[in-house]
Amino acid sequence: MSKNVLLLPGDGIGPEIVAQAERVLKLLNEKLNLGLNLDSALVGGAAIDETGVPLPDETLDLARAADAILLGAVGGPKWDELEMSVRPEKGLLGLRSNLELFGNLRPAILYPQLAEASTLKPEVVSGLDILIVRELTGGIYFGQPRGVRQLENGERQGYNTYVYAESEIRRIAKVAFEAAQKRDGKLCSVDKANVLEVTVLWREILDEMAKDYPDVELSHMYVDNAAMQLVRAPKQFDVLVTGNMFGDILSDAAAMLTGSIGMLPSASLDANNKGMYEPCHGSAPDIAGQGIANPLATILSVAMMLRYSLGENKAAGVIEEAVSKVLDQGLRTADIYADGCQKVSTIQMGDAVIAAIDSIVQH
Ligand code: NAD
Repeated sequence: MSKNVLLLPGDGIGPEIVAQAERVLKLLNEKLNLGLNLDSALVGGAAIDETGVPLPDETLDLARAADAILLGAVGGPKWDELEMSVRPEKGLLGLRSNLELFGNLRPAILYPQLAEASTLKPEVVSGLDILIVRELTGGIYFGQPRGVRQLENGERQGYNTYVYAESEIRRIAKVAFEAAQKRDGKLCSVDKANVLEVTVLWREILDEMAKDYPDVELSHMYVDNAAMQLVRAPKQFDVLVTGNMFGDILSDAAAMLTGSIGMLPSASLDANNKGMYEPCHGSAPDIAGQGIANPLATILSVAMMLRYSLGENKAAGVIEEAVSKVLDQGLRTADIYADGCQKVSTIQMGDAVIAAIDSIVQH
């Protein structure tokens, strides 16, 4: 049965990097007969320019009908002055909430070839392989009430609400426990249970659920300590699970441990493993249009898509092998460049991955 993949290039470097990922997906579709139908649509600033809204109904309908979605990135200075409700980021948040993509998987893997690219000492990060599981559709980013109000003394007050229902905690914890089972069996839950009642409940539920996963060793850590430990000794972690805001921050910190945010894919899954896949980075307006963006995070997002939503493990493995191969060849985009390597453009990196896939599939 054929499956539908929706491409949402978005803004900034989004269209440049998605174009390379699309070439990879089309090649594998053809070579391995994956039976995928590809479609594309507007989201973010590109959608605002065209239709006035960041998530047009047509895009949402296509997203609902798709088996998997590949997103580039949204946002940029052009739209920064717009009112909050029509900002490009609302397109992304709208997709996540409408499709109930509550489980965000963000691996932070340091490719041995890039050990020097990290700002941390090689011995602290080499061989790093951690997975951050972030709750994506709840917590303080979505909690009501929210806004800016006028106090009686005339001063304005900004306010947001940090809420998690028990069922929301349980479903993200399940994703995290299961991920830990497939890896090294260690799960660290990150909270602020010394200050925030919502995370006291979070901790209680995790402890309760741990009884159903005797093969997983559960620990708890306050978020401030977790931030510290991530830069002090990141290899102590296997899987980390946390709420939306803490996960947002910690996953970017973890991303930088690896030297380049341009290398890291992510998946956002619903309860049935339908997912939206995207690089961890944003639209990088500072380098958009220059043809120098690293497309590997987006290409590796295609690998995650094939594995988690499309059940095509072999094709996923081919992509990961191809990426490792081009790094072995010394090819680097500017963000991961080091002396002695060959600096390549976005398209040249795409060409190299395509050539590597060709040779892997032929053998
Ligand atoms: P960013 O990730 O876009 O860029 C941070 C830095 O990393 C920049 O110097 C950029 O040039 C570099 N970088 C990022 N991706 C790269 C790649 N593939 N290759 C080479 N270098 C890369 O973060 P930012 O600057 O904070 O945000 C820029 C815009 O992106 C903002 O409008 C923000 O709202 C948006 N954003 C979107 C998403 C998303 O769509 N998921 C996520 C984060 C930020």
